[in-house]
Parts: sequence; C-alpha cells; structure tokens
Amino acid sequence: MLLTTFNPMIKKLGILIILLGAAFAIHADLLLERPLSEGYIDQIEYVNHAEKLSIDDINNIDPTFWKVAPSHNINLGFTADHYWFRISLKETIPLDKTWIFRSKNPLLDTLDLYLFSGSTLIQEFHSGDSLVFSKRPIIEPSFSFPLFIKRDPPHVIYLHAHSSSSLQLSLSLQNESAFWQILGAENARKAAFYAVLISMIIYNAVIFFMVRVRNYLYYVLYLSAFSLFMASTHGLAYRYFWPNNPEINQVAAAVLTGAIISTAGLFISNFLRIKEIRPNLHRFLILIIALGFISSIASFFVPYTIMIQIVASLGLITALIAVFWTLQEWYQRRSREVMIFIIAWSSVLIGYILYIGQKFGALPVNTFTEHAVEIGAVLEALLLALGLADRINSERKVRIQAQERMLEIQHKANEELENKVHERTKELEKINSKLHAASITDSLTQIRNRHYFDYKFSAEYRRAYRSQSPISLIILDIDHFKKFNDQYGHQAGDEVLRIVASAIKNTLQRPSDTPFRYGGEEFTVLLPNTIKEGALIVAERMREKIEKTQIEWEGNKLYVTVSIGMASCLPSQIENQSSLLKEADDYLYIAKENGRNQVIFQDNNPKT
Ligand code: GH3
Ligand code: MG
Ligand code: MG
Repeated sequence: MLLTTFNPMIKKLGILIILLGAAFAIHADLLLERPLSEGYIDQIEYVNHAEKLSIDDINNIDPTFWKVAPSHNINLGFTADHYWFRISLKETIPLDKTWIFRSKNPLLDTLDLYLFSGSTLIQEFHSGDSLVFSKRPIIEPSFSFPLFIKRDPPHVIYLHAHSSSSLQLSLSLQNESAFWQILGAENARKAAFYAVLISMIIYNAVIFFMVRVRNYLYYVLYLSAFSLFMASTHGLAYRYFWPNNPEINQVAAAVLTGAIISTAGLFISNFLRIKEIRPNLHRFLILIIALGFISSIASFFVPYTIMIQIVASLGLITALIAVFWTLQEWYQRRSREVMIFIIAWSSVLIGYILYIGQKFGALPVNTFTEHAVEIGAVLEALLLALGLADRINSERKVRIQAQERMLEIQHKANEELENKVHERTKELEKINSKLHAASITDSLTQIRNRHYFDYKFSAEYRRAYRSQSPISLIILDIDHFKKFNDQYGHQAGDEVLRIVASAIKNTLQRPSDTPFRYGGEEFTVLLPNTIKEGALIVAERMREKIEKTQIEWEGNKLYVTVSIGMASCLPSQIENQSSLLKEADDYLYIAKENGRNQVIFQDNNPKT
C-alpha cells in the first residue's frame, strides 16, 4: 500500500517543500508587479445613483456631485447602486501608443467605458460578466480595455460599474508590454495555486480509491468545491467552463459557497469523529450541511445579492464554530489530528476573514488581502492532507497494537491450554499408574497378585534363560487354614493372611525377590538369580519366622505354620516356567503329605 511503504518523515518533508514552493510561486508576481506599474492616472472621482444614468446625464451632472476616490483600489462592498467614475489622465502621458486600462475584479456585472479627449468621444466599450465571455475587448479573466491615445490631452475616462456582488475596482493603466508581463506573472501564480490544489485532489482521490476510507472522498469533494469556487472568483471558471452562460456565472460563487459549506461539514464531522464524540454538535453540523446544500440549490433561483450574503454568513458561522469547538477539543484531548486541523482550518479562516472583510469594505484591497484565501487554502490543503495521512497512520498503529494484543492473548491462552493439558496428562498418568498398581496388587495383603505373578514369572524365566542365570520359585500354603477359619472366623483368617504376607515380605532381602498372593491362602515367591541353596535358606527362614509369629486375636495368642515347596533351575528352554511351577507345587503337596510345617525341594524329597 502506498501509505505504508512511504516513509512518513520523507512524506512530511516533501509536503513542506511543495508548501514552500507554492508560497514562493504565489508571491512571484508581487516582485514583478511593482516596477511595471505606470502612474498616468491623475485622479479618480465618482458619483453614485440608485438608477443608471446615461453618459449624457453624466456629462451634464452638477460638478459638485463628484467625490474624489482616495485610491486606485476602490472598494464599495455590496451595493445595488450604479457608480460612475471619472478618471482623468495626466497630460504627460505619451501619445500614439496603446494603453491598457484594467479593472482587476472578474466578478463585475457591468462595465461601460467611454474615452473622451476634451469633449470628443473617441472610444467606447461595453463589458462585464453579464455578457458572454467572448464579448470582452481583451480575453482575460478580469476586464481590460485597449485605449489608443493619439490626440491631444486632456483625456478623461468615464466608467460605469454595477454589480450584484461586491463592487470593487482595482484600476490601473499600463502600456501594452507591462500589461502582458503582469498577466503572465498572474497566470504563473494561478497555475502554481491550482497545481497544488489539483494535485491534492488527485492524490487524495487515488488514496480514496486505494484505501476506501470515506474521509478522503469528503476531502476530495471539499477541495473540488473550493477549487471551483476559487476558479470562479478568479474569473477562470467563466473563461474555461461556462464562457457562454453568464447566468451561471452570476450564481456560481453562491452555489459553490453552499457546496463548500456542505462538503467541509461532511469532512469535519468525519475527520474529527464528531458523531461519536459530540452527538449534539453532530446534529448541528448535519443542519449546517443541509443548510449549505439548500442554499447551494436556492442560489439558482434567489437573487445573488441576497444569497451571497446568506452563504458568506453561514460559512463564517460554520468556520467560527469549527474553530471554537476544535480549540476546546484540543484543550481537552490534545490529539494531534485536532491540532493539525486547527492550524489548517485557522490558516484558511484567517484567509477568509481577510478576504470577506475586504469584500465588505472593512479592509483595504491589496495583494495580501486579495490572495489571503489562496495562501490560507494552499496551507490548509497541505496540512489536511498531512492530517489525513497522520490519521491513517495512527489508525494503522492502533490496529497493529490491537493485533499484537490479540496475538499475546492467543499466545497466553495457548500456554494456559498447554499447561492444563500437561496437568491433565499428569493426573491421568497418576491415575493410570494407580490403576495399574491396583490391578497388580492384592487388596487384602497389599502384595502383588496372581495376575502379576503370571506376567512376572514368565518375564523373569525368560530373562534367566537369556542370561543363563538360576531362578528359584517358592510356593507356600498355610496349614489347616480352613480349620482356623472355621474356629476363629473369616476376619481372623484375613488377619492371618495379612500377617503371613508381611512376614514373607520381611524375610526377603534382595529387591528382586518378589512375593505374590497366588490364591486363597497360597503365596509364591520369585527369586531371580538365586540358586537352590540360597532359595532353601530363604524358604526355611520364612517357615521359621511364620511359625514364631504370634497372632493376637480377640485376646487369644494364636500361631500358624506353613508348608513350602521349592524348585530351582537353570532354564534350558525359553518358556518352560510351568514345569518349574508344577515341580514346586508337587513338593508343596509332598510337604503337606509329609506332615506340614516344612520345606520340601529336590534334595530332601522323601519320595526319592
Ligand atoms: P491344608 O493344611 O491341607 O492346606 O488344609 P487347609 O484347610 O489349609 O486347606 P484347604 O485348601 O482345604 O482350605 C483352604 C481354606 O482357606 C479355605 C478357606 O476357608 C480358606 N481361605 C481361602 N481364601 C481365604 C481368604 O481370602 N480369607 C480367609 N479368611 N480364608 C480363606
Ligand atoms: Mg492350607
Ligand atoms: Mg490351600
């Protein structure tokens, strides 16, 4: 995207350079104009009358009616009167030359010029913007008249002026070459002015089409209305857009002022987010936007003199409210966009105040007041473009920050989830290992059960086979346990089972020796890596320990004995553990037969 790839610093610098360039271009003619002006106008007098007087009436008018105008820049404000000016030329004016007499205000409705030499009329022109553009004696935005002064002095110009807009005449008399030089400089200045505005319009229109932010559209509309308004006050719109429609030209300034108010209102409301911040003010702005629009339309029908005063006042009120509100807003919020807006708006407002003040006759007509709006407008256009870019930029920053925050939140959520999963997995693992332990443990005696014995015995047997190490198995059965149960009860029997199991466990010393409850009152002990002699010692120790263990039950001191069968081997086949089990079981059976409370194994088998 154009905006994001642009380095904002470079962009600001670029705009500053355009700004300075424009300022210089606008002032270029000020440097040129002065040395070229020629002072052959002797004095300017005027009379005014509510009705139009003819040139003959004027020639015969009471001489005391003439009032002397204080300067060449005549500003009579809005007036419906008809004015006649008597401009006497100095006798020193060189003869046999063409002189250009100019009134530099493109908005005068009627201008009639009569050149007299003594009492002889030598030239006569009828001009003004109520006539089609091509009727002008010299094609230029203002009104210029070529005067050929060849006869003897005294020369007097009579000029009749009337206008529904502000009656201003900035009169000058120059020789031809000076006139064209001034016109050239003026055109250069205007070209620079419109170049800035048009490039701003195009630039922002392109941005609008790229980013589709409505603000840019409003700004483009505002700038377009404003540029057209300026072109109409400069007389350029008449020359280029509607040269054959003086009736359009009559109302253009009022129509466009209304359009400026509407579009500026739209832009301000959007740019400063007034709808969200100040709903009341927003409603008021909507009213102003509507009024601007209505007066724009009304200007086509209602007389210009009335409409131009209405829209000028409306514009001034809008501008003042905007400045007042933004100043207050800046005081409260200190936001950069509001500050940029204030500076931009103030520059054009000051321009307008100077321009309108001059139009109403309160301020002098000079190059500065005449171009105040243009200078202010160029500053405003550039500053607002800067403000819009800044706004987009800060919005982008906020968006990025929000995205980062979202990512962070997501990241945290993921982490939390991972932690939870981890915790759950651990819990499950614990439960699993508990379940596993429970599944291999005998609940009564808390030693390993038959199920685990089957697995463990097979595994140890295979290991013994692989490592060719001896393995021994003890089978142990409590003697006459049925009788014990019958005599003392099942609970006593259970207690005996527990005591016997722990006695077995306690006689085992190697960690690899494991006791199991094989079933009922039978236990097995697996002794990996143990030869027959060692296993015999363990078995004998067990038998002895159980025999000596006193069992207290309901005040009785009881004893039990166990019979043990024991078998050992060095496995010669990988899965032959059942034969070892059978052998041990057989010896257990023999031990029972042989009188119980004894250990029987291969070496002491009484049957061999
Ligand atoms: P022998 O000396 O021949 O082994 O005689 P015996 O009574 O111990 O043998 P028998 O196998 O006939 O009896 C086993 C008895 O063990 C049956 C039952 O009353 C008892 N018994 C088996 N399992 C349990 C148990 O979990 N709790 C209790 N209290 N008694 C059990
Ligand atoms: Mg028994
Ligand atoms: Mg038994």
